[in-house]
Amino acid sequence: MSQEVITYCRICEPFCGMVATVENRKLVSLRPDKEHPLSQGFACPKGIAYTQVQNDPDRVLYPLKRQPDGRFTRVSWDEAMADITERLRRIHRKHGGDGIAVYGGNPAALNYSHALWMNVFLKALGIRHFFGPGTQDTNSRFVASHLLYGSLFTVPVPDIDAAELVVILGANPAVSHGSLVNMPRMMDKLHAVTERGGRVLVIDPRRTETAREFEWQPIVPDADAWLLLSLLHVLFAEGLADQRALATQATGARALRELTAAFPPEDTAALTGIPAGVVRDLARQLSQKRAVVYSRLGTCLGSSPTLANFLLDAVNLVSGNLDRPGGWVFGNPPIPLQKIVAPLMSYGKWHSRIGSFPEVMGMEPAANMAAEITTPGKGQVRALIVSAGNPVLSTPGGGKLAEVLDQLELMVSIDLYQNETNAHADYILPGVAMYEREDFPIFSMGLYVQPFMQATPAVVPPAGEARHEWMVYEELARSVLPETLRNAVSQVREKGLGPTPRLMLDSLIRLGYAGDRWGLRREGLNLDTLLQRHPHGLKLAERPTTGQLHNVVRHRDRKVHLDHPEIREEVRRLQARRPDPDYPLYLIGLRELRSENSWMHNPPALRAARPPHAARIHPDDAAALGLLNRGRVRLVSPWGAIELPVLVTDEVSQGVVAVPHGWGHKGQGGWANANRDGGVSVNDLMGTRPSALDPLSGMSHLFGVRIRAEHVPAEPESHAVAALEAGA
Ligand code: SF4
Repeated sequence: MSQEVITYCRICEPFCGMVATVENRKLVSLRPDKEHPLSQGFACPKGIAYTQVQNDPDRVLYPLKRQPDGRFTRVSWDEAMADITERLRRIHRKHGGDGIAVYGGNPAALNYSHALWMNVFLKALGIRHFFGPGTQDTNSRFVASHLLYGSLFTVPVPDIDAAELVVILGANPAVSHGSLVNMPRMMDKLHAVTERGGRVLVIDPRRTETAREFEWQPIVPDADAWLLLSLLHVLFAEGLADQRALATQATGARALRELTAAFPPEDTAALTGIPAGVVRDLARQLSQKRAVVYSRLGTCLGSSPTLANFLLDAVNLVSGNLDRPGGWVFGNPPIPLQKIVAPLMSYGKWHSRIGSFPEVMGMEPAANMAAEITTPGKGQVRALIVSAGNPVLSTPGGGKLAEVLDQLELMVSIDLYQNETNAHADYILPGVAMYEREDFPIFSMGLYVQPFMQATPAVVPPAGEARHEWMVYEELARSVLPETLRNAVSQVREKGLGPTPRLMLDSLIRLGYAGDRWGLRREGLNLDTLLQRHPHGLKLAERPTTGQLHNVVRHRDRKVHLDHPEIREEVRRLQARRPDPDYPLYLIGLRELRSENSWMHNPPALRAARPPHAARIHPDDAAALGLLNRGRVRLVSPWGAIELPVLVTDEVSQGVVAVPHGWGHKGQGGWANANRDGGVSVNDLMGTRPSALDPLSGMSHLFGVRIRAEHVPAEPESHAVAALEAGA
C-alpha cells in the first residue's frame, strides 16, 4: 500500500519541505513539498537523494563489535550495551567525567532528541571533554554574539526581502542554500533584490556559484577583518555613521571609532586586494541604503574569526542597518529560546586542559582531541563516544587522531555508517535516519527570518535494529548511577514515566507565544496540534520582527557592546600577522552541491554528477609551478602534505588554491561508494597547535591557510580527468 507523508529535510538549515512516498513501511521516494510555506517546492539534489541513504545497503543496521583483526561482526544490543556500560562505569569510577569525551557531529545538532539527551549524558557524568563541528564551523560567530549582545544565541539574519544592497562575504548560498539562517530559496530572494533595482555584491577569493550570478569582488583570503576595519573607518571618518543608532543601540562607539581610525582603505588595499575607492564607495552605499552584510564560513574560519564576526555586526550597526527592515535582523522564535535555552549556554566557565581555550557552549576545540587522548595527567581522555560524526576527516590533523584512537580504553560510535573514525571503535551502534524519527528544529528556531514552525512525524519505522540516539545516551547515563538508583530509574522508564525529549519539546511549544499554555489559550498549539493542523508548517508572520533589539540583547543595559579588551587584543594580533615566504599560496575551502561535509558521499544519485576530489588552481599559478590540468599536485603546509588531482581554473584568484573538505575515505569497509571516490583529507594540512587556533573561540584556522604547491611528476589519471571535465 502506498502512502504520502508530509515532512521536511534535516540535512541542513533550510529544512526544505518534502513529501515522502512510503510503501509497505518503506521510504520509496522524496519530492519537494509545493505547499511548504517557505521552500515552496524547492529541494536540492542531496535532499532528494536521501532515499538512497535511508535504504543504503551499506548502512549499519545492527550493533557491530570490532574484532582483534579490525573487522566488525554483528552482536545483539544486549551484548553490546552490557559490555559498553560495564566498561564505561569502570572508567567513570576511576577517572570521573574528566576521563570521558563525547564528539557530537553536525547531524546531532539537527536532531533535537539526540542533542538534548547527549547534553543530559554530559551533565549526568560530569563530562567536560565535549567536542563537535562547532570549532570547525561556527563557534566564532557565537562568541562574537556573546561579546556584542551578551548571548551566544543572539545571531542576526539578513532581511533580504526588504534589502536594497546585500553584501555576501565568504558565503556561497547557491551551494549551501543559506547557512546559519533558515531561508529556503535564498537565491530567489537574492535575484529579487537585483530585479527590483538593488545590488548583490559577493566578496570572495573564488568566483563562487553565487558570485557567478551577481557582482563579484575578489578578496585576498583571510582578509575579511582588514576590509571590515576599513569599512568602519570610512563610516566614522566620512561622517556616515548612523548617530541615532549609535546612541540608542550601542555603547562603546567612541572606542570603536578610535580602534578603526588606523585602518583607512588606502592602507589595507594591499592586504585585501580591494582598491580603496571600492571600499569607500561600498561604505557610502551601506550607509545610504537598506543594506546588509552577511557572512558565513569564509569569515568564521579565518585566523581572526571572532574579530571578523564582531566587526561585521559593527558595520551593520554603524551603517544604521541593525534591527532595521532590509538589514541585519533578529529572529522571533515561537519557542522561548532566549528565556529557557540560551541561559543554559555558557562561555568561558572553564578552560580546556590543552591550550586553555574558553569553553563555548560546553565545547572544547576539536583540534585538541588527539592531544587530549595522549597527554597524561588528570583529565586524560580514556573513553570516547562519537555520535553522527567523523572527526578523523572533519577536524584538523585528523590523520594524527586516527593514529591515537586505538589507545582509548573504550570507544563507541552511534552512526548510520562505518566510517574512517569509527573504524577504530570497539562498537558501532546503529542510530536512526532522519525520516525514522519525529522531529522539530528547536535549536534553529532563532534563525528563521520569518517566524515559522514545523514538526514532522516519523515517516517510517527504524530500519533493522536502529535505535534512537537519545535512548542510547540515556542507557549510558544510567549505567554510572549507583545500582539502587539505576534500578529505580529503570522501573520508572518501564512504566513509560519520566522526562523525554518529546515532553520537553511539547512544553517549549506550549510555552511559546503561539503555544496553548496547556489549555489556557484555546487557539494555541502544542506538538500534537502542530503535527495535525499544520503538516506543511506554519508561518507566524509575513515579515521579520524588527525594532526588538532591547528584547534580544542580554547585556543589563540592553545595548550592543562595541568596546572589549579582547577585541582590541585581536586587532593587535591581526597587525602582528606576517606572511611566511616558504608558503606563498592561500588554501581555501569549498562547498560542493552534492556533498555534505564528510558524508552524503555514498548515494549513487549524488556520485554520478559529482566531480572527483581536486585542487582548483589559477592558470597563472599552474603555469608558474609547471602544473597541468589533470595532473597531480602536492600541497604542503607547516603541518602536513597531501597529493591530489589538479583542476586549472580561473574561478579562483591568483595565489589561491581551493580544496573541498570532508574527503579522504580510506576503503576500510563501510561505505563502498565513498571509499571508491576516496579523495584526501584537506584537514591534514591544518594546524592543531594552540597557536594555530582562535584564542577567543578555539576555532580551527581552515580558510586562508598558507601553503605551497609542488608539481608531482605522474601520469594524469584518465578516469579522473574525464570526470573533472564533466563536473567542472
Ligand atoms: S537545501 Fe537540500 S539538503 Fe538542505 S534542507 Fe533543503 S533539500 Fe535538504
